[in-house]
Amino acid sequence: PLILGIESSCDETGVGIVRGGTLLSNTVASSMDEHVRFGGVIPEIASRAHLEAIVPALDAALKEAGVTLDELDGIAVTAGPGLAGALMVGVSAAKALAVATGKPLFAINHLVAHVAVGLLAEQVFADGLPENLGALLVSGGHTEVLRVRGIQDVQMLGSTIDDAAGEAYDKTARLLGLGYPGGPVIDRLSREGDPKAIRFPRGLTQPKYMGTADEPGPHRYDWSFSGLKAAVARCVEQFEARGEEPPVADIAASFQEAVVDVVTAKAMLACKEHGITELLLGGGVAANARLRELTARRCASAGITLHVPPISLCTDNGAMVAALASRLVMDGAEPSSLDFAPDSSLPVSTVLLP
Ligand code: ATP
Ligand code: MG
Ligand code: FE
Repeated sequence: PLILGIESSCDETGVGIVRGGTLLSNTVASSMDEHVRFGGVIPEIASRAHLEAIVPALDAALKEAGVTLDELDGIAVTAGPGLAGALMVGVSAAKALAVATGKPLFAINHLVAHVAVGLLAEQVFADGLPENLGALLVSGGHTEVLRVRGIQDVQMLGSTIDDAAGEAYDKTARLLGLGYPGGPVIDRLSREGDPKAIRFPRGLTQPKYMGTADEPGPHRYDWSFSGLKAAVARCVEQFEARGEEPPVADIAASFQEAVVDVVTAKAMLACKEHGITELLLGGGVAANARLRELTARRCASAGITLHVPPISLCTDNGAMVAALASRLVMDGAEPSSLDFAPDSSLPVSTVLLP
């Protein structure tokens, strides 16, 4: 099927077009530059930027793909989770397009779209989902390990109980005076630092949280990053109290090592104990070089096949929305009704709104 997907859940206005499992175009406009001086995404600014960007992004995506609205088999849009006002812009545009063209509308889950796009990039998309598939989703708003029994049957095995990994990067970068967004700059700076310089805590790894395989503790596959952030703050204070310049590159590298180590270790454990033999890595933090490297290494030694999308498909974009809808249409899913409302906290178990 030929599907156009619209994404507007945060600060990226994305329109992407796929045919079956083939990517035809992927246009992304980001309002990140407008949020930098505030050190975080400001919802009102994001919504207004989506309004300005959506029509040009639609035109550009159609032009690049060389298709007309008439030829589409469906229009897909992120219905949640995300910022309510931001979601509303994409949803309104998608509904308007659906009404004007008479095409079916698919209101989909943003997180499952991060998963679906991993298969698109791997070209195993058309064959249907592999059996025993899992997903590790690491983004600005979420850190989750999922069991994907089918594209409409997604179960959460573990998640962060406080900050998302991307959020931890952003907050730590601010603390280190590195600016916003923190992920890319810490990723870069870490290459000049020693990841073993400081041993930062790996949250929720104590036996009382982990338990055993037979008797799992309350947070066996869960993460917590708030203690890590506090540990980085204490570390910086200690250097300053001694009148020393904090070794920023070493701190960044050690922080990154703590995040990547615990994220991958718990994901591997969840895979092993749930019979997952193929893992998809997705979300904005999946752009991280060290996370990609360590996940690949640990999957290889655990005998797990890893699917990692190219970086341009890891951060928010419209192609991921189109990819999920394309897979759903191939599976015979019914379109959504035109009167659905976006849901800022849509659970991962709802892949497609009725
Ligand atoms: P969600 O998908 O959960 O709704 P989001 O859409 O804000 O959240 P994404 O766009 O998927 O998240 O990812 C943005 C996050 O990814 C930011 O927190 C950013 O710091 C982080 N990030 C981007 N590149 C890197 C990188 N190279 N290393 C680490 N983190 C990164
Ligand atoms: Mg974003
Ligand atoms: Fe996202």
